[in-house]
Amino acid sequence: MLTPLETRLASQKDNLNDPCYVKNQTFLTGLKEYITAAKNIFFPQLCMPCGQKILRGYLCAECQGKIVFLSPSLCRYCALSIDKNLNQVCKGCAGKIHPYDRLISVTVYKEPIVSLIYLFKYKNYDYIAELLASLMQRHLLKIGFDACGYHFITSVAMHKHKLKMRGYNQADILAKLLSNYFKIPFKNDIINDTNIRSSQTKLTLYKRQKNVKDAFIVKKDLKNKRIILVDDIFTTGATIRSCCQALKNKGAEIITVLTLSKTQQAKILA
Ligand SMILES: [Zn+2]
Ligand SMILES: [Zn+2]
Repeated sequence: MLTPLETRLASQKDNLNDPCYVKNQTFLTGLKEYITAAKNIFFPQLCMPCGQKILRGYLCAECQGKIVFLSPSLCRYCALSIDKNLNQVCKGCAGKIHPYDRLISVTVYKEPIVSLIYLFKYKNYDYIAELLASLMQRHLLKIGFDACGYHFITSVAMHKHKLKMRGYNQADILAKLLSNYFKIPFKNDIINDTNIRSSQTKLTLYKRQKNVKDAFIVKKDLKNKRIILVDDIFTTGATIRSCCQALKNKGAEIITVLTLSKTQQAKILA
């Protein structure tokens, strides 16, 4: 079943293929602007995290300015700020075995990102994905991330029961939008989440790791495949590591993990 976001994207795509639609665009754009202006007078749009009135978009300038982006130099495994060094590895990650080759987290997990992720994940505001994915895309371009050479983009899988309850996998939606931006294929049939487990949120580091150990199954042969794995938040990395291990076990050559956000106290498990 299509999510509301997917339905909107699909209808947008159909419209662009229709010549009448294209011909009527100038008139419709003018009409749309007029309707939007009238709508804004009676039903002003509100900034999603703070509720302030805004003219367009999802965020007021103040909330936009509060977003903290994670910029280099960062540890390649935990995205911790480090002094520039040859291997881009912090002391905590050095000498440990990591099931992925690089982690890029785009923002620090603090307001307004906390509220946006909450609305996106738990309140069915799945259309916020467009804003979140574009924040990711712009930052990735800014730091010089090159998506060429990757075979596909995928996301941290969600167990089918959880997917049924929530209706969508937020990581899937972000990955799909990023695959459009970067023009590399999106695949969501690679990883299977086989384990119904309690939420990771309140568990200790050790329990988180145990909770997701062997949770993910990859059936396809991924020999020599270079993969981008997307998730919304990097906390301890327990889920992401488990996912990456399953991909590596099937031969994945390179895995780059992209997350929208990283908790400030993120402590990596290895
Ligand atoms: Zn605001
Ligand atoms: Zn590190």
